[in-house]
Amino acid sequence: MRERPETIKAVALLSGGLDSRLAIKVVQEQGIAVYAANYVTCFCTCTAKGSCKSEARRACEQLGAPLKVFPTTKEFLEIVKNPKHGYGRNMNPCIDCRILMFRKAKEYMEEIGASFLVTGEVLGQRPMSQRRDAMQLIDREAGVEGLVLRPLCAKHLSITIPESEGWVDRDKLLSISGRSRKEQMRLAESYDMRDYPCAAGGCLLTNEGFANKVRDLLAHKDADINDVALLKVGRHFRLPDGGKAVVGKDKEQNLRLLNLARAGDRVFRPHDHLPVPTALLRDSDSEEETVLTADLCISHSKLRTEPFILVETYKYEAPSEVRVITAKAIPRERIDSLRI
Ligand code: SF4
Repeated sequence: MRERPETIKAVALLSGGLDSRLAIKVVQEQGIAVYAANYVTCFCTCTAKGSCKSEARRACEQLGAPLKVFPTTKEFLEIVKNPKHGYGRNMNPCIDCRILMFRKAKEYMEEIGASFLVTGEVLGQRPMSQRRDAMQLIDREAGVEGLVLRPLCAKHLSITIPESEGWVDRDKLLSISGRSRKEQMRLAESYDMRDYPCAAGGCLLTNEGFANKVRDLLAHKDADINDVALLKVGRHFRLPDGGKAVVGKDKEQNLRLLNLARAGDRVFRPHDHLPVPTALLRDSDSEEETVLTADLCISHSKLRTEPFILVETYKYEAPSEVRVITAKAIPRERIDSLRI
C-alpha cells in the first residue's frame, strides 16, 4: 500500500459539459479535493466568445473546485497536422488530443501533489477515444496507466490505483456505458444540476464543413494559428493558382477579416462606400486571382446584377498603394467550383 495522503487531491479534466461535472461530483462525494483542468484551443467552438472557458469557470464555482486553464493551441495545431493515431470521422485527432491533455494533467497533478486523475469519459460514448482499447492506449502513451479514474463507467474498467489504495470506494462508482445520456440526466437531476451547455463537446474538428476547410488548408501549406482563425470567418475559395480567397458575410466578419490580414495578404475593400463585402487574398500574387477575388466580392454583394462595379485593393503592407479593379459577378457554377 502507498502512504495515504492527509488530504487526497485529484486533477479532473473538465470540458464544462455534463459528464465531466458529474464525474467531479461523484469523486467529491467521496471526500476527494478536486482540482479542475480545462483546455482551450483555436478549434473550440466557442473560443471566440470565451464561453467554453467561462462555462468551465461557472462549473467550477458551482462545484467548489479550483480551475486551471491550459491554452494548448500551438501544440494541438501540430497534432492536427500529423496525428500519430489518425483522425476520427472528420479531422478530429481524438486519441492524440487526449494524450496531450493527460500529459498536461499529469504534470499539474505532480505540481500540486495530487494523487490521480479523473475524467468524465463513458465507455462506448465516443467512437474514437472512448473505446476500451483506446482508453488503455491513451493512458499508456500519456504515462498515466492506473492513475485515471473514470467514475461514470469505472465498474466496466479494471481497478485503478485510487481504488486499490482505498482512496475511493469502487462500490460507489458507476457503470454507465454507451451513447444514451439517460443515466447522466438522472444523475444530474439527483445532484440538482440544471444547465449544462456543451454536453456534446465543442470541437470544430468534428464538424464536417469546418473539417473540409482544415483538410484543404493543410493540403496547401504549413498552417499557423492565424490561418486557422481565418477558417472561422467568411466564405472560403481555393483559386486556380493555389491562392485562398475569403469573402466576408456581414459587417462583423468584414472587420474580422481586416483584423486577421497580415503581410503578404491582399485586401479588397468597397470603392466609394458601395455595399460590397471585404475580402482577403492569401498566398497569391497572381493577377488572375486578384481579379477573381474582386469578382467574388461582387458576386456576393447586392450589386451582382450590375454590369460592373469598382473594387479597391491593396497589399496589406502597402495600404496607400490602392488599386481600383473593374469587377463583375461570375456564374454560380464557377463560384461553387471554387468554394471550399
Ligand atoms: S473532439 Fe476535439 S477536443 Fe475532443 S478529443 Fe477529439 S480532437 Fe480533442
